[in-house]
Amino acid sequence: METKKFDVAIIGGGIIGSSIAYYLAKEKRKVAIFEAQQMGGKSTSAAAGMLGAHSEYKEFMQLYPFARSSQLLYKELYEEIKELTTIDFEKKNGGLLKLAYSEEEKRDLESILSLSSVEWLDCTEAREKVPQLAADIVGAAYLKEDVHITPLIACNGLSKGAKLLGAEIYEYTRVLRVEKNGMGYVLKTSQGTFLTDNVVVASGVWSNYFFQQLGLPHEIIPVKGECVAALNDGAPLHYSVFHDQFYIVPRNNNELVIGATKKWNDWTEDPSLDGLQEVIKKAKRMIPEVGKMKWKRAWAGLRPQTYDGYPFIGEHPEMKGLYFATGHQRNGILLAPATGKMIRDLMIGSPVEKRWVDAFKVERHDFMHREELSN
Ligand SMILES: Cc1cc2nc3c(=O)[nH]c(=O)nc-3n(C[C@H](O)[C@H](O)[C@H](O)COP(=O)(O)OP(=O)(O)OC[C@H]3O[C@@H](n4cnc5c(N)ncnc54)[C@H](O)[C@@H]3O)c2cc1C
Repeated sequence: METKKFDVAIIGGGIIGSSIAYYLAKEKRKVAIFEAQQMGGKSTSAAAGMLGAHSEYKEFMQLYPFARSSQLLYKELYEEIKELTTIDFEKKNGGLLKLAYSEEEKRDLESILSLSSVEWLDCTEAREKVPQLAADIVGAAYLKEDVHITPLIACNGLSKGAKLLGAEIYEYTRVLRVEKNGMGYVLKTSQGTFLTDNVVVASGVWSNYFFQQLGLPHEIIPVKGECVAALNDGAPLHYSVFHDQFYIVPRNNNELVIGATKKWNDWTEDPSLDGLQEVIKKAKRMIPEVGKMKWKRAWAGLRPQTYDGYPFIGEHPEMKGLYFATGHQRNGILLAPATGKMIRDLMIGSPVEKRWVDAFKVERHDFMHREELSN
């Protein structure tokens, strides 16, 4: 049988791989996604789905304009994918309230309050929006544009969109090796061998394996996040609420997603009782009645963290046609559209902002942005 050949083979069917596939399929490239398990089944399905460009990044960071551009891209993608596939990302437009319990915490929020879409609410105003909030808050920064979606549905929408535009999807197909073959590459997988002109490694925390195999010194660190979902039988919550890295995000069917711990370099993928206890305690600090809600389920996922806090989005310094798109840590859902578009533009030779090419390039020094990250 003749070996199948593609223009682009993407390793990993999470939100990053699916977004890249969609943008390239739109350009009529012959794309294949190879996913070791189920599409979106790893970090992507564990995510809360906040599109937190303002909540997560300070304006001076390179990542803020990138994140903001991605947040804006979601607006058009949402409509486009719905029309093409009928899949609705379940976008919730309420936005996010970042709570302050003291004047000091209020001062910490000042840097985002200067942004045009962010507004300060005092305790009464915040509790008008979310009556369930704890009464001892000083107030909240209201981030109108930091809406949220359901990540697994968005991932499925993007991959289905790619498929309808001609992409092939190979689930339960693990890529074992990538080898150079003349001008292109050979992919050795658990389901046989494939040929391709270009490769994109989008394997989340498991991209380490390919960095090593392809001669690059980088390491992605797993940061485990544990979450619990509760059933809210009371008044519905229309906004996400956030404090001290923990959050409560409303989904359909009165489900509240409550998360998440941050466990550095922990490769285990099951939630622990200690971790769940911690997230429930933090959630009760924001909305006390959470403690009385019904338990639905709990899970954990591994955020792909880089040492400098920036993703790797770019071409291998020596191997032409071999790209990486990984290390999106706690914001991969938010950053997926801009990442998909950037890989497409790099591959087809369209202009890409130089500051992003430099900040995310694969051959950068790992520690370049550490100072900015720790600020
Ligand atoms: C608890 C939690 C909450 C989060 N909340 C948010 C949020 O609110 N907003 C936000 O923007 N981000 C959030 N994130 C982060 C976000 O989930 C990740 O940044 C994003 O999912 C990364 O996507 P990915 O496609 O790179 O990785 P993944 O979704 O992990 O996908 C990588 C895929 O590659 C596959 N793979 C690995 N090796 C191979 C191989 N050899 N061959 C074939 N396939 C392979 C894996 O099976 C996997 O499906 C959260 C993460 C966690 C854990």
